[in-house]
Amino acid sequence: DTNDSRLFAFQFYSDLDRLKLMREKDMENRMQDALNAGEFVVYLQPKLSLKDDTISGAEALVRWQDPERGLIPPDEFIPFFEKNRFIVEVDLYVFDQVCSLLRRWLDEGITPVPISVNMSRAHLAKTDFLDAYEAIRKAYGVPPELLEIELTETLVFTNPEALFQVIDQIHRRGYRCSMDDFGSGYSSLNLLKDLRMDTLKLDRAFFTSQNADNPRERDVVTSVIDLAEKLSMSTVAEGVETPAQTAFLKEARCDMVQGYVFSRPVPIPDFEALAFGAADSEKA
Ligand code: C2E
Ligand code: MG
Ligand code: MG
Ligand code: MG
Repeated sequence: DTNDSRLFAFQFYSDLDRLKLMREKDMENRMQDALNAGEFVVYLQPKLSLKDDTISGAEALVRWQDPERGLIPPDEFIPFFEKNRFIVEVDLYVFDQVCSLLRRWLDEGITPVPISVNMSRAHLAKTDFLDAYEAIRKAYGVPPELLEIELTETLVFTNPEALFQVIDQIHRRGYRCSMDDFGSGYSSLNLLKDLRMDTLKLDRAFFTSQNADNPRERDVVTSVIDLAEKLSMSTVAEGVETPAQTAFLKEARCDMVQGYVFSRPVPIPDFEALAFGAADSEKA
């Protein structure tokens, strides 16, 4: 009867809970050693410019390459690292890796593409958090225009005033700034006028019908892209999986697509082959 099933559900949930706690404890014990051992690796996902079908940027996405458990996706450790704030270390490590890569490209005479990194809201606890980023960037001598910081839309609702200041600080240092996951939560179109972002990243929640033939969906996407353009923001459509979606986005004058339709996030050498491969073989 219902009582039994409720009991069962409770039991089941608490087993899952215990498992989660065990895994979190395990991560807590190993995270610092893992960071020191280089187990966090940066993958890059290309952003394809719809103007000329070239790779015009990349997003850095972290993975945990655990020697025992294999490649762990960010969804399995980032929420926990946001709770215990270890994400601050991870984000700075990713940023360091990205600056180091850009430095190497510049040294090798490769024309670099800008790379974006995700910044967790945990950084905002410290008002001088950008100093740590700047110290790294300067150590590598990388121009700030090659770096973009992605802030997620959920920040808007927790503390818009703080967010305005963060964007301002990012710009004063010469970095670009983008609004990640726009449209995944309860985005207020009205807030867009106050958010001086360079780029709006349309969340994949916009592209739910895979065949891209839902007229209401198309109208919403087109309007958001038009609005972004009026506000001088470029647009990146995230999670684009089909050629039909890409064709529609081109028609809607979206600037870039980032999605499996072109490439998944890949290890750095694979990205270099995708982005610079042709140029390299010309040189050889
Ligand atoms: P995000 O910043 O919105 O990154 C885009 C996510 O969408 C990536 O997931 C990417 O692999 C996935 N994606 C891209 N194209 C497609 C597609 O066509 N279809 C589908 N189904 N998915 C697609 P990923 O790499 O698993 O990262 C998940 C989230 O973890 C990121 O979402 C970001 O919020 C967070 N994250 C990743 N790396 C970092 C990091 O270094 N620092 C911080 N703070 N967060 C990170
Ligand atoms: Mg992102
Ligand atoms: Mg996103
Ligand atoms: Mg996301």
